[in-house]
Order: sequence, then structure tokens, then C-alpha cells
Amino acid sequence: MIFPKNLRFCLLNGTIGNKLNNSSLRSYSAKNVRVRFAPSPTGFLHLGGLRTALYNFLFAKKHKGVFVLRIEDTDQSRRVDGATEALQKDLEWAGIEIHEGPIQGGSFGPYLQSERLNLYRNHLNTLLKNKSAYPCFCTDRRLQLLKREAIKSQEVPKYDNRCRNLTEEDVQSRISKGDPHCYRFKISDKEESFNDLIYGPKSYNISLNEGDPVIMKGDGYPTYHFANVVDDHLMRISHVLRGVEWQISTTKHILMYRAFGWEPPKYGHLPLLINSDGTKLSKRQGDIKISSYRENHIFPLALLNFILNSGGGFDKDLERHLKPKCFTIDELCQQFELSNINTHSGKMMPARLLEFNNLELKRQFADKELRQKLLIQTKLLAKEFLGNSINDDSDVLRDAYVLKVLEWSLDRIEKLSDLFSSNLAFIWTIPQSYKIEENVFGAIPSLKNELNKLDDVSRDSLNEILRQISSSHKLKYPLFMKSLRAVLSGLKEGPSVAEMIEILGKENTIKRLDLYLNKTSFVR
Ligand code: GLU
Repeated sequence: MIFPKNLRFCLLNGTIGNKLNNSSLRSYSAKNVRVRFAPSPTGFLHLGGLRTALYNFLFAKKHKGVFVLRIEDTDQSRRVDGATEALQKDLEWAGIEIHEGPIQGGSFGPYLQSERLNLYRNHLNTLLKNKSAYPCFCTDRRLQLLKREAIKSQEVPKYDNRCRNLTEEDVQSRISKGDPHCYRFKISDKEESFNDLIYGPKSYNISLNEGDPVIMKGDGYPTYHFANVVDDHLMRISHVLRGVEWQISTTKHILMYRAFGWEPPKYGHLPLLINSDGTKLSKRQGDIKISSYRENHIFPLALLNFILNSGGGFDKDLERHLKPKCFTIDELCQQFELSNINTHSGKMMPARLLEFNNLELKRQFADKELRQKLLIQTKLLAKEFLGNSINDDSDVLRDAYVLKVLEWSLDRIEKLSDLFSSNLAFIWTIPQSYKIEENVFGAIPSLKNELNKLDDVSRDSLNEILRQISSSHKLKYPLFMKSLRAVLSGLKEGPSVAEMIEILGKENTIKRLDLYLNKTSFVR
């Protein structure tokens, strides 16, 4: 049995970090599932990219396989600084565990294509030796001319494969003269087929639409197709799950596998994601940026359910529709079947995102451990939103109070940040100025008295008390409520007064009533 060199190193050195050891061992068997997410660092991670990563991750997790992150940065002109780091941060936020990648390491690295140039060069030599590739000296000017002529005569503009036929002597003399050149791959003019794991059998004759593709550019960098094939093979990728826009390239990739004498991985293509009106999701739309969901206080799991809900792959789709649920990663993993992924485009329904977010809020609140995290998050948000108007020992930051607020909000808010919207700000801050009807003043001490008598303030008992006080002070009930709402919250509209008292609690309410009674500066 021959071990790959670096794997042998891992096996002999038990001291290496667990992660590396585990992934190396797991990845060794050819039978194991190894999938990858291979983004180009040309900008931010968007919904489509996260969807691809997610399906790959779930597939790996379901089959106890390995999920690899490979950064395809061979097009240096499109590389955006910081994109790789941002991408990893987004994946991490989404709960996607990377087993091998630029930061995690692994036995088949480097995982950044720009650090693998020697490997591509060596593999190009293999193809040159077996005559599957050749140098091309055609200038940009010639290629432009070819294109223009084809368009004029209404033919498919494609390279005419002229340099395929150069003699060995021609090639040598041009190379020794230092003529600029790239390398092309000889494609066959026959139809090639494969069985798409999602779309079924597919056949395509590339040569009808394309000339021999460039695999190594003049700058020594490989093109996407070549680097992608070499890396998928060297990284032992068993299944390629990627967007359907790449389906057209798959037969080209399979031809390259043949030229190397390698077994291609299995391919499955994921349907397009579209807007609810049927238009294409555009990367330029700020709202498909993963970081903008994070900044908007969307829970990662809500976003994952939202994305997966429109692409299929889960047997509970229908049930989910009738009785919506925000599934955990483990639940999603159990349900996931490649064969259940849709072949029609997935429509994104924005309203469902907030629905899932609310479901996730409820799920977290129902779990003791997650509730604790929710509590911390809410307190942090309170400090972020309210800044100097709140300090750490403030009454409204007490655990019991915040938990009560959270429980109350479960059926009323979609995002945690809704708790800090203007009509709920009263939960956290004492109103500074408001105007109330003069004749209400006398009823306030009575309300204080009644509240003091209560052990527990519940909406029903409060409604009764408020009615009684209103009638004993001969106040019109709506007018009394309007004034009380102003005293408690500074708001003209909002939750009912009984509800406000219930959520503020007895002490907070009495404090606000006292403030009103004591503050002569208030306009009455
Ligand atoms: N780098 C390609 C992309 O940006 C990867 C396509 C593939 O998965 O083969 O999507």
C-alpha cells in the first residue's frame, strides 16, 4: 500500500493537531466522500455561493466525508484584497465546518491555487508529452480578427486551432526566439456524455461552440478549467456539486481527465437561484451579500433554511410549508438527499426569511443553553442600540427582566433588533418628556397602590384594575389609557397599557409613575 507522502507523515506523527490527523485519515480511502467549495476571491460571498457551500457541506456531513475549501485565485486581475478572509468568516458564521482549507491545512494543500503553480506546470508537461496540449503563438490581434470575421459571416466565433498543426521545429524555434505563447488543450470533435447526479444524462460536443481552450496563460497562470481539474484530482474530490452555470464546462473537464488517464469525479449541478419575480439574482444587489444578513441580525440558521427552502433536496419540503420549522444542521443533514434537489430554478421568497428568523428565535428560546446565549446577545444589542443611555447595572439589563422581555416578544418580533425599534424602545429607556391630560394626575397614586398590592402583574388582572380606577376617578377609559401610555413609554401608540405594565414589571412601572409624579418639569 502506498501512502501519499504527506499523509504518511501524518500517520507517523501522532503529535500533529487532531483536525489535520482526522481529515487526513478520513480522506485516505478512495471510497470516502470528499467534496469541495471552490470560490474565486473576486468579491463577497453571496446567496448562490453559500448555497453551493451548504449543499457540499451537508453532503460531506451526511456521508461522514470531508469538506474542502479551495480558493481559486488564478485570475489575479480579478482578485479582491481581503476577499478570502471575508469568505471564511462568512462560512464560519453560517456554521459550515471546513475540514481542509487555507487556514485549516490538510494533506492535499496548498489550498490556494496561486500557491500551486508548480503543480500545474508539471501537469501541463504531462499533457504536452502525450500530445494532448500544445503551445499557441497566436496574437491577440489575430484572435480578434478571427472573431470579427466569424461574426461577419454569422458563424460561431471560435479559435480555429491553427497552432495544433505547428511542426516540432517551428515550436522550438519560436520558443527559443522568445515568442509570447500560451498553451491550449486539444478537444475532441465528438459528443461527450456524463450522468449529472441532479439533471440526469447530459451530452455535449464542445467543439461545435469552442476552439481548443487555453489551459495555461502567457503569465504562467493556469486557466480555471485546467487548475480546477488538476486540483479536483489531486485533492481526491469524489463529487463535484456546483452551480448549473458550470454544467456546460463539465464535458471539457471530463476530456481533460481522459487525457491524463484519470477517473473523473461524479458531477451534480445545482439549479439557479432567482428572485421571486423570476429575474436573475445579481451579485451587485447588496442584499444577497452574506455579511449584510449578518449585519441585519438574521440568525445563520434562518438564512440556511431560507436558502435551502427554495432549492429542494429535503424530503420534508411540503410539511415544512404547512407547518414551518427552522431545521438545525443535523436535521437538515438527516433529510438531505441529492436526488431530491430540484432541476427548476429556485425562487427566493424574501418574506420567508423573516418567518424562519422568528422560528429560530423561538427555537433558541426553548433551549436552555441557547436561551442563555440569546440573553447575552440581547444585552449586547441593547448596549449597542442604546449607547450611553444604558449602563451595565441598569435595571433593564437584569437577566430576569431581559428574559421576560424575550419571552413576551416571541410572537411579536421577527429579529432581535426589532426589540429596539422606536415603538419598543420604552422597554429599555425611561421616557423623557410627554404631555398628558391634567385630570389623570389624581389617578396615578391609586394605580400605584393597586400595583403594590399585586404579587404578579398579569394582563388580565391589570385590565380589570385599570377599568376600576378609570371609573372611580371618572375618567374616560381611552383618555386614561392614552395618558398612561405616555407616562410609561412616551408613545402615542404601541402595545396596550396592560401589556406594557406586564412587560415592564411592577417595580419598573412604579418607578416610572413616581418619576411622573415627582417631575414638576414635565408639561402636564
Ligand atoms: N471558481 C469557480 C467559481 O467561482 C468554481 C466552479 C466549480 O465549482 O468548479 O465558482
